[in-house]
Amino acid sequence: MTSRSLLRLAVAGAVATTTALMAVAPADAQQAPRTVPVRLLALNDFHGNLEPPTGSSGRMIDENGATVDAGGAAYIATHMKAHTDANTIAVAQGDLIGATPLISAAYHDEPSVEFLGKLGLKVAAVGNHEFDEGYAELRRIMKGGCHPVDGCSPAGEWKGASYDYVGANVLFKNAGEKSDALAALGSRPEVTKLLSDWGVPALPPVSVKWMNGVPVGFIGLVTQTTPGIVTAEGIKDLKFVDEVKAANVASKVLKLLGVKAQVVLVHEGDQVTPGQSPDACSAVPGAGNRIATQVDPEIDVVLSGHSHQAYLCKVKDPAGNDRLYSQGGSFGRVITQVDLKVDVRTRDVVRSSVVADNHVVTRTVEPDRDVADFVQTWKDRVAPVANRPVGRITADIKNTGGPSGETPLGDLIADAQLAATKTGGNAQIALMNPGGVRMPLTYAGSPAGEGDGVVTYGEAFAVQPFNNLMQVVTLTGAQLKTVLEQQFTGGPNNQPFTKILQPSANLTYTYSTSAAWGSKVSDIRIDGTPVTDTQQIRVAANNFLVGGGDAFLAFKDGTDLWSGPLDIDAFVDHLGKNGPIAPPATDRITVTS
Ligand SMILES: [Zn+2]
Repeated sequence: MTSRSLLRLAVAGAVATTTALMAVAPADAQQAPRTVPVRLLALNDFHGNLEPPTGSSGRMIDENGATVDAGGAAYIATHMKAHTDANTIAVAQGDLIGATPLISAAYHDEPSVEFLGKLGLKVAAVGNHEFDEGYAELRRIMKGGCHPVDGCSPAGEWKGASYDYVGANVLFKNAGEKSDALAALGSRPEVTKLLSDWGVPALPPVSVKWMNGVPVGFIGLVTQTTPGIVTAEGIKDLKFVDEVKAANVASKVLKLLGVKAQVVLVHEGDQVTPGQSPDACSAVPGAGNRIATQVDPEIDVVLSGHSHQAYLCKVKDPAGNDRLYSQGGSFGRVITQVDLKVDVRTRDVVRSSVVADNHVVTRTVEPDRDVADFVQTWKDRVAPVANRPVGRITADIKNTGGPSGETPLGDLIADAQLAATKTGGNAQIALMNPGGVRMPLTYAGSPAGEGDGVVTYGEAFAVQPFNNLMQVVTLTGAQLKTVLEQQFTGGPNNQPFTKILQPSANLTYTYSTSAAWGSKVSDIRIDGTPVTDTQQIRVAANNFLVGGGDAFLAFKDGTDLWSGPLDIDAFVDHLGKNGPIAPPATDRITVTS
């Protein structure tokens, strides 16, 4: 559905309220207020895992404390059906697409969005990863049409998502921008006024769904840190504002529309104390808890995402009432079920009626036949690409490592990136962001398990799934030092936690764990020669880092930008050009106390 018709629905819903009320109002006014049941089934951070995810991404601690295999589209469908009743609305909290396996990514995630439609999803908040290919591509995913560069997928012209994407805190930077979300609210002057005082929404802020004669309003929110974690170019026209402020405006909009049963779908969440049941309130209060406790008391439930953790918490809203705050892990391993009752007279949620349960998507059930066939179709389509051998390794090459934060696979990727940018971009060194190294390379291979050290394109893609562009910029020695200092917390760039950039083999340095920010890094050398402050250095990195991603703001001071191949192509090329590759030694960074 387009945002235009979605918001029309919201307006139409409010007008229809009186009729709906009369239809369900009890004949005897003395009778106790009637309530109607509503069930929400929620998913978050699916990341295109149509096939059952492997390794630790495919395991989950269940309600009994056992570690079980979990996830996979056909199993999700079976579990969803088992928990769906006549009162059910399926919703999601973002990162459904982006950073996805090749089966989805090769087709710009159309297979995943189609699957979620088949699942019966009605409303989803956007996550940061929905912006991985930029705002224009997100709009294409929402509304349909073929990809402007790659054309139509083998399934034909893309019809658009069959669920609504919402994002109340995503605004246009330019106040003069035309917004279809705002235009659709034209018939309600007080709503238009509220929103135009607030800003120009780039996405529909809310979606209203009717269930059992009552309207339920869903407010979408995405982490306000999105500009720091997605490629700058694709979102250059957008701003991501404070989640609480945006939720409160959206809540007022819903109220003006007569919608008092309000649910926040937020792509932001908290970390947990590990090892606990998905039904435990194991969340350590952070960015998610701030939102869950501070948004308007009219909001009844806060379903979260982004941190890939599972928890069910009861927090206090600003009026002191209990409010559900939950998350359902990631990769389709957990479905969160929320049962609530709505008073038909006040049209508000009876807070004491809210009950939630995190269901682990086990694989001991019969997989849904239709969805299994659907996944197989896409698997067959992508197989010739995925199964192509691209190189060999002598042993597992891991994306975890020693105390410095350097990892064997990070080193290998940095070497590949330098090799791919030396000629055209005159790169002298390369730096790779650790968060972009998504999976280890295993000797046994996955999921077929050839066991011969062969790396397939599919396996290489699982490591480097972002289709980032390799770039080269000139930094001075002093700017390179600043980049390396920005790896650590405590600086003006506000790095939230230590992120060690993976260096190419010819870049070495030392850092001190105890030194103050700004003087942690010393003895920077390129090919053994000490780097001077004024020296000009050609530095290769992906376009995410060069755009200042992950709080590496000093990259933005780089000059003489050169753009080269995709990062996955650089990696595949390097694997192919070298004989069986042994895990690098992770001796490029030295740590002192
Ligand atoms: Zn996220």
